[in-house]
Amino acid sequence: MSQSSNKSPTGYVLTPSGWVHGDIVMEKGSIVRIEGEPVSVPDGSDAPYILPGFIDLHVHGADGVDYAGGEEAIRKFIRFHARSGTVALAPTTSTAPVDVIEKSLACIEAVRNAPLADEPMVLGAHLEGPFINPGKLGAQKDITRTGDAALALRWAAMCRLVVATVAPEIRGGLEVIEALTAKGCRVQVGHSLATFEETDEGFARGLSGFTHLFNGMSGLDHRKPGVAAYALAKGRYAELICDLNHVHPALVLASYRAIPRLFAITDATTSAGCPDGTYHFGGDQPVVKKGLTIMLADGSSLAGSAITMLDAFRNLVSIGLTLAEASEMCSTRQAEYLVLNDFGRLTPGRSASFVVLDRSLQLKAVWIRGVQLGSVDKG
Ligand SMILES: [Zn+2]
Repeated sequence: MSQSSNKSPTGYVLTPSGWVHGDIVMEKGSIVRIEGEPVSVPDGSDAPYILPGFIDLHVHGADGVDYAGGEEAIRKFIRFHARSGTVALAPTTSTAPVDVIEKSLACIEAVRNAPLADEPMVLGAHLEGPFINPGKLGAQKDITRTGDAALALRWAAMCRLVVATVAPEIRGGLEVIEALTAKGCRVQVGHSLATFEETDEGFARGLSGFTHLFNGMSGLDHRKPGVAAYALAKGRYAELICDLNHVHPALVLASYRAIPRLFAITDATTSAGCPDGTYHFGGDQPVVKKGLTIMLADGSSLAGSAITMLDAFRNLVSIGLTLAEASEMCSTRQAEYLVLNDFGRLTPGRSASFVVLDRSLQLKAVWIRGVQLGSVDKG
């Protein structure tokens, strides 16, 4: 590819100030300018939509592999997600023995430091567990640990941690929250049985978000509010699994109304993009995929999702969000949360990383850093 400028297809480009019927001019992987005419709504032609590429801050795997499978496995699943429009992501660990977590973090860091052309940007890892409440495991293994700030800091030195999931009410939990927050990591409450008051204490000590809101947390009892109630009352940023299965559309809409910067995640695991059958999560935990539902083999819990961010985007539109609102939930808010000046919006100077969708939301093309991917999954 030459270093001279190139152009996106002509379409309706979603910019922070509204739609522009035109195209994106790119140079050296960045947006130089957006040419065309502002329009109030995309109308009157079948030109495609051009939206900021998706960002997934909670994604364990796909395509038969997950974070615990080593560097090539991580490259495989992030490429899978790129083909459905994810341009930046945080590979996510789960509760596992210390050596498995450390090997996985080292591999995530290796991929982050040596990105290939057809890969989305690895922002850093999301550390989910082991500092969580053993009473709210979901699909996490029953080998949780009490909070250990020294261990957390050792991991932060091995790999850039952009997000961590911690239960504030466990012994040592608040110390881990403080230690990782001081390292610039966004620490979220999750897999937690915290009361409203314990959650409040966690936020006073550095928490800034919620991990898969409603799933794996104390809830909404109106006389005994827990973590989910805290999110609705006071939360600013929160993750939500947008498969419409982990959370009913009614609660997706209620939380969208209540939480100013609610954003979508996939929480995708090994079998996303694979046929129905038995797979493994975190290396050795058997899970069964049927359709878009993945359960632990014993049927006791959901075990992540089988969706992509493209599915999440379409699901949000299907329950009534506008394209611009759904795009904000799938890209802009994540970029704000992690202060990513390169992603999340289509403006001059940012990375030329975007998706092209036809009018029925079929994926037509994915561009990452100014280069069009050779193939995409239309989903
Ligand atoms: Zn997860």
